[in-house]
Amino acid sequence: MNGQPRNPAIEKILFDEDAIRRRVAELAGEIVEDYKDGDFAADREGRPLLLVCILRGALIFTADLARAIKMPVEYDLISVSSYRNGTAPGAVRLTKDLERPIAGRDVMIVEDIIDTGYTIEYLKRNLAARSPASLRVCTLIDKVPRRKVPMKIDYVGFPLKEDAFVIGYGMDYAELYRNLPYIGSLSPQYMK
Ligand code: IMP
Repeated sequence: MNGQPRNPAIEKILFDEDAIRRRVAELAGEIVEDYKDGDFAADREGRPLLLVCILRGALIFTADLARAIKMPVEYDLISVSSYRNGTAPGAVRLTKDLERPIAGRDVMIVEDIIDTGYTIEYLKRNLAARSPASLRVCTLIDKVPRRKVPMKIDYVGFPLKEDAFVIGYGMDYAELYRNLPYIGSLSPQYMK
């Protein structure tokens, strides 16, 4: 893959830089196509689509997606944490809120990866309560077979059938590997 040395923690490269770039451009094209018609407030009132980036995993995806969307957009950042080892599976907590109100805005949540779906369900509920004009979800990776909360995801970069722990392009294991430019599965011997 592009002659680049592979990080030893990577078991298998799932999506290389070219595949990611191509897919991000396609998603951006679909988004522009969908939002350019008058069904959305963004179009009717000249208010740009607002991308809500879920920190920290979706940072790099959002940066690339925002630049690939060839129409005006704004972005804001939100952060959540989930109690993965706690007694209540799926409990999610807001750790950093948006800077501005979203009432009347066309909002798109941008996520790195949807696994069980608890995080995105929480965020959709939380943001919907703030009366946006519309609310959609775009995820780079959708781990379809692991879903616990059935829901429609509006834009999916890559559906992932295999049960892999995914790192790179913003996604981490214990905060590492976010800066890898490609997406790969983590070797089991690198899991603590
Ligand atoms: P969910 O609430 O189970 O859907 O989990 C969503 C969040 O878990 C994502 O935003 C990621 O932060 C994290 N996550 C789930 N699977 C992976 C993975 O394979 N690699 C890195 N992070 C993951």
